[in-house]
Amino acid sequence: MNLTEKDIQTIIESVLKNVEAAIGNEAGAPSQTSSQQPLKMKQLSPEVSQTGASSHWTPTSEYGVFDNIEDAITASYDAQIAFVKQAKLADRERILSAIRTAVLKEKEHLAKLVFEETKIGNYNDKIAKHELSAEKTPGTEDLKTESITGDDGFTFVEYSPVGLIGAVTPVTNPTETIINNTISMLAAGNAVVFNVHPASKQASAYTVQLINRAIESVGGPANLVTMVKNPTLDTVQVLADSLKVKMLVGTGGPGMVKSLLKSGKKVIGAGAGNPPVIVDETADLQNAAKSIIEGASFDNNLLCIAEKEVFVLDSVADDLIFQLLDQGAHMLNHSELAQVMDFALEANTNNQPGGCTFQNRKYHVSKQWIGKDASTILNQINVNKTNTKLLICEVDVHHPFVQLEQMMPILPIVRVKDLDEAIEKAVATEHGNRHTAVMHSNNLDSITRFAKAIGTTIFVNNGSSLAGVGFGGEGHTTMTIAGPTGEGVTSAKTFTRQRRVVLAQGSLNITG
Ligand code: NAD
Repeated sequence: MNLTEKDIQTIIESVLKNVEAAIGNEAGAPSQTSSQQPLKMKQLSPEVSQTGASSHWTPTSEYGVFDNIEDAITASYDAQIAFVKQAKLADRERILSAIRTAVLKEKEHLAKLVFEETKIGNYNDKIAKHELSAEKTPGTEDLKTESITGDDGFTFVEYSPVGLIGAVTPVTNPTETIINNTISMLAAGNAVVFNVHPASKQASAYTVQLINRAIESVGGPANLVTMVKNPTLDTVQVLADSLKVKMLVGTGGPGMVKSLLKSGKKVIGAGAGNPPVIVDETADLQNAAKSIIEGASFDNNLLCIAEKEVFVLDSVADDLIFQLLDQGAHMLNHSELAQVMDFALEANTNNQPGGCTFQNRKYHVSKQWIGKDASTILNQINVNKTNTKLLICEVDVHHPFVQLEQMMPILPIVRVKDLDEAIEKAVATEHGNRHTAVMHSNNLDSITRFAKAIGTTIFVNNGSSLAGVGFGGEGHTTMTIAGPTGEGVTSAKTFTRQRRVVLAQGSLNITG
């Protein structure tokens, strides 16, 4: 007799009930049966969580924002224990839905807060990023139990909570990363303490409070999501050293990812990229230009996935440039480029590695100019043009704008003689980050060759890089693309522990 999916589901439900009863569901996944009988959650107080958790933290917080990192850790640790005890899958979904609704309601305000505090990027694009994070981050549907049946019995694998997660966030997507990480981590039954970039701490605090208010409004526990009011490298270290923190998640540059990896904990590391674009002779050049402008200018090129340099085959280079100019890009001439380099780059006088690679470079990008508008950059060199979103320049492969992750709306274009040269240069320029690459081609063989050679976590063909995170492309979104540690486009499942339950010796095997 063959088992139907319904039979397997019934078996899983009954086994889960028994297993949960046996292990007290200390940090386990909630019963699937709960979705049929949703529990009305009660507001949890710190006293409720005393069972099996710390009990003496001082609540010096306001909706999850703590003066002291140790207090933030203790509060979230307690909250997570209460969360898995009390919240069933349907309750988790109710919490996530409240968070999504609160963010969507305040997307303009959140974008304004981030823009005013960080002074980088583009207000309208930030609204779109908040919308994307709230709508396209998967929830509990991402956690699908796997089952195996056969002569020897029945085995299933559950995706259970990790516990308390410490998460470090970047200045380039500060609130969007908090929203995206929170939805994914809570969907999986975890709690999270954020250590945000200091230059975005006010907007981040507002977001954490908004999220906690939303959670509490549907009866969820207080302090499931916390942060320290004044984050520093020392507070990151406290997170890394805390026995209560079971996993670290770092979104930012390679220095931060490397430092988290020294913690001895499980780390999900989402590091820098320097995404190259190849345009070959088979590409639809009008579409290529449109997509390149869209991706490279979005939020003034702050995104780690954004197009950072183009390698175009000589035979179509003039036509591609014509299309880029026709669609509003501004070509920097020699003198303009030299002037822009003067202020947008800084000499690396200390010979320190930095940016998207540990290799030493002659220049660093000037932090002051990261994420500024194309028109502001032009204005600095006395070119008065307000209707352009992207500056382009023709350079060779060694140019600092090609080799550095500039995060400015300046896109260098390098001519190459053929696809071999394009692939060789694109791979070298990506610096082994294995983050994102883009191609414009209609030749399947060429697409396969480039995708194989570069081995990036995200590879987009015939679209803008944004399609790689669900913006005009299929698939869910993330603000944490874990290239260095290999988890890829993160979602709830990434923030889980796998637990295998085996019913051996033919038990529950009703086959045949
Ligand atoms: P950053 O590395 O300067 O800072 C990121 C975070 O790490 C901040 O909270 C910062 O305070 C902290 N930090 C910095 N150095 C640290 C150290 N040595 N130890 C511990 N913590 C440290 O990066 P940023 O300027 O905020 O963000 C831009 C970078 O992040 C770019 O390189 C971009 O490519 C990358 N990024 C990657 C992803 C991804 O999903 N892979 C997403 C967004 C941004």
